[in-house]
Amino acid sequence: MISDRMEKPLASWRGKERYGNEVLECLTIIVRSGGCSYGACRMCSYRHERFHTTSCEDLLLHLKAQLAWIMNQYDPAEYRMVKIFTSGSFFDPVEVPMAFHADVATAFHGKLLIVETRPEYIDEETLRSFIRLLDDGSWKTPLYCAIGLETSNDAIREKCINKGFTFADFEDAAGRAHAAGAGVKAYFLFKPLFLSEAEAVNDMRTTIADTVPLAELFSMNPCTVQRNTELEFYWKRGAYRPPYLWSVLTLLYESPVHMTCDPLGGGQARGPHNCGKCDYELVRGIRDYSLSADRELIGALLETRCSCKEEWEYILCHEQPWCMPLTR
Ligand code: SF4
Ligand SMILES: [Zn+2]
Repeated sequence: MISDRMEKPLASWRGKERYGNEVLECLTIIVRSGGCSYGACRMCSYRHERFHTTSCEDLLLHLKAQLAWIMNQYDPAEYRMVKIFTSGSFFDPVEVPMAFHADVATAFHGKLLIVETRPEYIDEETLRSFIRLLDDGSWKTPLYCAIGLETSNDAIREKCINKGFTFADFEDAAGRAHAAGAGVKAYFLFKPLFLSEAEAVNDMRTTIADTVPLAELFSMNPCTVQRNTELEFYWKRGAYRPPYLWSVLTLLYESPVHMTCDPLGGGQARGPHNCGKCDYELVRGIRDYSLSADRELIGALLETRCSCKEEWEYILCHEQPWCMPLTR
């Protein structure tokens, strides 16, 4: 039941999203939840966003009040897709009490919903009950579980990201989601800590190829240096550089499937960037591509002339990986 009390979520906005061959009106919501139960990824600052409460009832009231604010603020007739982020996992019952799942599914009945979650919280029966409330027959797949797989390489996921699950865990979770009638959206992290530019590009190539058979939607996040993270610690000491936009374009151009990409902080020192002169156009082009899927646009951007391209090519060939001792 929707609450009488209203409370603003962390953020919400209306925009457009590509889905198959359509461009849909989309509502994106970042809900303040109980916070990520895992909270140990090296590049993540979202884990600091949470209600500091130990009471499940209190948390539920806050969540219900945010949903009430959303329903009051946006006319459901004006959007068809909803993306929900919780700065953690929507299906983690500690972070988002199960009673709230039903509220969300009912509130967005008939919409196409994408919710973010770690693989361990994907439970077939939970998804089936959720879809029963959400589905009105409008969509073949009314629910997608968005999973931050980041990479298909277990060593990179463990050492460079500290993500705490394996590729096999992702595969199993994707199987459970599909068995329940949900789809899977895979999020990739391009260039985590400790990888050279060339290693990171190769990691994405392998990751995309490994993941295509397991998911239906794909999104690549070029790494951004968020505040109060381990990644920031290294970046401040000159031990990390976010990826070049040239690499981002190359991966989007080569990918066998359409990948959306929103280069957060694009063109800035903390975000994916080139030299500062060519960045603006390239970032804008990448955002346009996410919506249009126009591969020729990416091809044309890759042909853009700028002196930093030679620098990028040099880096790809000559940058050496960091060596770490295997023993102490
Ligand atoms: S990236 Fe996701 S799983 Fe990792 S700490 Fe952040 S919110 Fe939690
Ligand atoms: Zn440049």
